[in-house]
Amino acid sequence: MASVQGGGHEMASRRALAAASAASAVVDRELAPILRRIEELVRIDSGGDAPVGRERVADLIGEWAVEAGCDIEFLAGEGGTAMVATLSGYGQGRIVLLGHHDTVFPAGTAAERPFVLREKSALGPGIADMKGGLVLALAALSCLAEGERPFATVELHSVADEESRPHGAFKTLDRVRDADAVLVLECARGNGDLVLERKSQCNLRLMARGRSAHAGTHPEQGRSALLALCREILRCDALNGMRDGLTVTVGTFHSGMAFGVVPDEAEAEIDLRAWATADVAWALEQVGATSVHEGVSFETEGVSLWPAMAADARSRHLYEVAAGVAQHLGIPAGARRSGGTSDGCWSAAAGVPTLDGLGPVGGHDHSPDEYIEVASFPERCGLLVGLVTALGLDRNTVAE
Ligand SMILES: [Zn+2]
Repeated sequence: MASVQGGGHEMASRRALAAASAASAVVDRELAPILRRIEELVRIDSGGDAPVGRERVADLIGEWAVEAGCDIEFLAGEGGTAMVATLSGYGQGRIVLLGHHDTVFPAGTAAERPFVLREKSALGPGIADMKGGLVLALAALSCLAEGERPFATVELHSVADEESRPHGAFKTLDRVRDADAVLVLECARGNGDLVLERKSQCNLRLMARGRSAHAGTHPEQGRSALLALCREILRCDALNGMRDGLTVTVGTFHSGMAFGVVPDEAEAEIDLRAWATADVAWALEQVGATSVHEGVSFETEGVSLWPAMAADARSRHLYEVAAGVAQHLGIPAGARRSGGTSDGCWSAAAGVPTLDGLGPVGGHDHSPDEYIEVASFPERCGLLVGLVTALGLDRNTVAE
């Protein structure tokens, strides 16, 4: 969608804009201790293979949420412990700030590649995705606690398994269903854009099973799973672009046991994405519709489907209000569609108006160059505080 700003300027009331400016100024003054918090989180490995680190991060953000004036809960279970912090207010409506405290990096990365300030950026594993976003949410909660609190609750939900969850929604989705808005703390893009839409995604393994045989003595008895799967992969590749935004990416292929043997097994991992969940479901069906290869059978396994974060009138309204606050703060905040998924996909699919990209400006997620822009931190915190305040005021005006 087009990058339009300012349409919502009138919607964010003057009180919300004042709250945004005040928060931005406060956080600007307190940037040094805030950066130390980010460093503290980044120093802890919290990938899928570091359950103790994930618990430690949950504990720390819980501690800081209490300091900010929140009540906290820890929800243990499969996938690790989620932390829910609740700031109560004097109005109506619930706004949920959604994040995760796991990263994609293996244990040892934090020591190998520690937090560093380089020119205008801070770098470190998980800093943009999304430890910087969590610290930003906590700073925003602390500012909101000092303000007029025109909401019933603002809640920070941080889950422990966003990057590695094989199936299904995040742990607290059921508690989010009746929220007025979900604001996701993935980073704002390098140019300041927020994320209004995300693709649906599906991972799966396509397996082929044939019959092995000696390549010299009985090649005719073999049924090559490798060749059959190669042909099917080319067929799948041709699905690219057949629906709106549909991409089909074969990420891995494994087959073969030894030189001189007809391979009896082959498997490929396939990633499907499209703007509409139904189009990904269609592509999944197509992938499974394999042709006949005599003596070879196919099977799909490990299917994991994430719904799209599609925009609707209510999420566009959220964006318009955010754009009004951003304009007041003098920062860019266009609206962007992203091919990557986040837990915002689940809240949006559950019908809750969802806006993403409300963390600090940053990028190069999942890579050694991952960074956040330090100077964006106060402004983006102001944006979040202004947005929450505006939504609360809006909601309470409607309710009055
Ligand atoms: Zn993330």
